[in-house]
Amino acid sequence: MIRECDVLIIGAGPAGCSAAIYAARGKLDTIVLDKGNPGGQIVITAEVANYPGCPDDTGPDLMKRMVKQAEDFGAKFICDEVIGVDFSGKIKIVKTPENEYHAKAVIIATGANPRKLGCPGELEFTGKGVSYCATCDADFFRDLEVFVIGGGDTAVEEGMYLTKFARKVYLVHRRDELRAAKSNQEKALKNEKMEFIWNTVVEEIKGDGVVQSIVLRNVKTGEITEYHADEDDGIIGVFPFIGVIPNSKLFEGIINMEDGYIKTNDKMETNIPGVYAAGDVRVKTLRQVVTATSDGAIASFEAEKYISDNF
Ligand code: NAP
Repeated sequence: MIRECDVLIIGAGPAGCSAAIYAARGKLDTIVLDKGNPGGQIVITAEVANYPGCPDDTGPDLMKRMVKQAEDFGAKFICDEVIGVDFSGKIKIVKTPENEYHAKAVIIATGANPRKLGCPGELEFTGKGVSYCATCDADFFRDLEVFVIGGGDTAVEEGMYLTKFARKVYLVHRRDELRAAKSNQEKALKNEKMEFIWNTVVEEIKGDGVVQSIVLRNVKTGEITEYHADEDDGIIGVFPFIGVIPNSKLFEGIINMEDGYIKTNDKMETNIPGVYAAGDVRVKTLRQVVTATSDGAIASFEAEKYISDNF
């Protein structure tokens, strides 16, 4: 089926929702496509402590409100997976398995996905002890032991969140110094339930049905250590938080990129007139909800001008 609209937004995270609020409020016929539930990466965050005005918000709550705000202005959210695009004509075409969306302007807000460790056992045990979402899965590890991998803000913040549930949180980092902001580091280093395993990477995740052990290698000494779940526990949790990879594969060879991130100017314009990018998928220095929503607003503001000048 062919569906026409003024602005087609790909991705319903903070950038996509903000773009939808601005576009729909500007009376543009606005469709937001997402292959899953709206919300993006932030719905796996327990606390959004630094989004201005929302110190106690959870990711899911903040996103529910953003989606509702966009819907109240008339934006339509559709669950549909984009499998191809044709940006060669004046009307931009976005293809999904059963539909074709024809839009005057497109805003790419596809965000980024968790980077994988790439070690044996990681995929096999995803959902069976390995999780990329502390908010979603912390409760399964009540009074158990968990291993958080990574040394950035996400690893440290999610690790601290996990201490509210788990008996013990080991934070495994490949260096001997955290990348996370100093304020986060101070809190984590004081947390009695957290233990830091420095200069260490994950070699393998093992088990029978669920994760029962994790094999670690000290990168300085080469020493291998295998941590087993207590017999009574039967399972340990593994939460890798080692950064993200941009969701930009669909646009390779079409849109200009740098290391997989979409290049834009400060108007969020890509190299193709009428196609914009916003949020974590674009080249930028700070990937936060506040910068994603800002990008989304700018992209819609510019798309609105583009449409009125060209159609
Ligand atoms: P990040 O800052 O890129 O940190 C990734 C961490 O994973 C680094 O410590 C890195 O080690 C480690 N790592 C990367 N690849 C690895 C591998 N293959 N094996 C083992 N370790 C690996 O990612 P992030 O923590 O997801 O944060 C992303 C952005 O969001 C950052 O700008 C961050 O500040 C921001 N953020 C902010 C907040 C907040 O302000 N409240 C919360 C969450 C995220 P190295 O340090 O050795 O490179």
